[in-house]
Amino acid sequence: MSNIHELQYLKENLETLKADGVYRKLPVLEGPNEAEVILNGKKVINLSSNNYLGFANHPRMKAAAIQAIEKYGVGSGAVRTIIGNMDLHEALDKKLAEFKREEAVMSFQSGFNCNAGAIQAITADGDLIISDELNHASIIDGSRLSKAARAVYKHSDMNDLERVLKERRGAYKNCLIITDGVFSMDGDIAPLPDIVNLAERYECMTYVDDAHGSGVLGESGRGTVDHFGLHGRVDFTIGTLSKAIGVIGGYVAGSETMRDWLSHRGRPLLFSTSLPPAAVGAILEALDMLMTSTEYTDRLWANAQYFKKGMSALGYDIGHSQTPITPVMIGEEAKTMQFSKTLFDLGVYVSPIVFPTVPKGTGRVRVMVTAAHTTEQLDRAVEIFEKAGKQLNILK
Ligand code: PMP
Repeated sequence: MSNIHELQYLKENLETLKADGVYRKLPVLEGPNEAEVILNGKKVINLSSNNYLGFANHPRMKAAAIQAIEKYGVGSGAVRTIIGNMDLHEALDKKLAEFKREEAVMSFQSGFNCNAGAIQAITADGDLIISDELNHASIIDGSRLSKAARAVYKHSDMNDLERVLKERRGAYKNCLIITDGVFSMDGDIAPLPDIVNLAERYECMTYVDDAHGSGVLGESGRGTVDHFGLHGRVDFTIGTLSKAIGVIGGYVAGSETMRDWLSHRGRPLLFSTSLPPAAVGAILEALDMLMTSTEYTDRLWANAQYFKKGMSALGYDIGHSQTPITPVMIGEEAKTMQFSKTLFDLGVYVSPIVFPTVPKGTGRVRVMVTAAHTTEQLDRAVEIFEKAGKQLNILK
């Protein structure tokens, strides 16, 4: 008789992953996340983190975190609705609202938690959620937690969005159109002005997940809504504090009514402990750094453009990114995994992105250049890409 505790069915699933060439162990980073790291015991150029501005290990951020610990301790002690709502959390929400140029913000413990909590809180049975087909997994999961009906439109295709609106809008009470601001796997920006126009024409609300736009696009990294000058016309904007801001956490930006409602019905806020003081202290410092200087965002964009130019000159297909996210398109899953491994052996770490994260046959390594990379590191990375590409016959 089989022993169910051996989890034989999961072992079989893992064997399938191995047969498909997509099985992997989580890499282990020794030390901080910065431009060059020790990964699995080897020193490599790190082109795989969302630490866009190099804030994750910035001395000012560390000092602010230590100061917050000295004053508030290491834990907030409870969920925000009980006694975890410190003046530090209130200060964070206020500062984020100022940064995002919105009336109010409610912060959560992660970007994922924002989508898991906000979508179900602001929609109900009888409502309709319309989502871009390439929206982030947390939007898909968050939408599944809602009792609203769901529809999907083709990626950034406004004709298809209008088709869905024409066919389905009339049958529902409230309608929420959800899009990523910047799509994390290709680096393209959503056609937000067109989405907002359609939303207004069909009396829908708009919800933008700007995890990869915040700290990157717009004035001082204020995000995609700012980039397009759409303040006041997008109802809900999600931001993460774990990527450009370099720490952990997420937030919903919008109106005072939104904030008030999420404080009553945002389930991760009601049932999961709030951000620790060290994180909040560091985030406040990051916002100060962003709002007083464009040094970091300028360097991020300059570095990304420099790297992209080098890769295009080699003949790589780097997709149609409009942001620092740089996919290097490979195609087949096993080849993508092999390419990532060869790059690692030669001294560059870029994670392979394959099905189910992206559609089958569109495997890529996704390069994330940051403000912290030096020109020398970027030159070295391009040289290694050339070597690896030739070794695997990806480049002629
Ligand atoms: N939304 C998008 C578009 C993302 O890329 C991510 C991070 N992968 C998240 C939400 C989740 O953010 P966090 O890491 O803060 O949970």
